[in-house]
Amino acid sequence: MAILVTGTPGVGKTTVSLELARKTGKNYVDIAEIVKREKFYKGYDDATDSLIVDTAKLKKYLRNLLTCNEVIDTHVVEAVPQEKVTHVFVLRLDPVQLMKRLEQRGYRASKIRLNVEAEILDSILIDSVKLFGTEKVFEINTTGKDVSEIVQIIYSILQGNGEEFKPGNVNWLQKYYFLLEQQ
Ligand code: ADP
Ligand code: MG
Repeated sequence: MAILVTGTPGVGKTTVSLELARKTGKNYVDIAEIVKREKFYKGYDDATDSLIVDTAKLKKYLRNLLTCNEVIDTHVVEAVPQEKVTHVFVLRLDPVQLMKRLEQRGYRASKIRLNVEAEILDSILIDSVKLFGTEKVFEINTTGKDVSEIVQIIYSILQGNGEEFKPGNVNWLQKYYFLLEQQ
């Protein structure tokens, strides 16, 4: 089975995917690298400082490439052929931590803001559920967890213990509701 690891840039997709691939013996598929190598982009988006991915071309390419033995690392969920994937793991990270990580990465302020807002508003989770359906999607709050702990959780979900990780278990708006109450 192919496994998709997704989430807002900076949540830890690459770190977790590499470790998961190593432990399971699956092939690691870095979508960002494929997009650059195969030139699957339509231009450059200044607001997000990133390539505009040609999702149709990328999806077609992935349909041929994937053999159902991969760990796929991407935030571009719409480019992943749904039928090849059995599990979608949406990694979540407290927006305050995410902001710090993206600052460390040297992203500019506007790019940090767009990504932190996307994390708060569950953007990738919502897209994942729309595309793959609730049965395949699991969200994992990685805040304060090291890579091995996260991989352990993924293992446990793959064995069928996914109930507490169904969509809706992470809620940043609720966590930060007290900020509204202080007004
Ligand atoms: P993504 O691929 O989602 O953009 P990365 O895997 O590149 O994220 O991780 C972003 C940064 O966060 C890296 O500096 C990485 O070392 C760090 N990181 C990733 N996972 C964890 C974790 N579980 N705990 C602490 N730091 C982490
Ligand atoms: Mg990455």
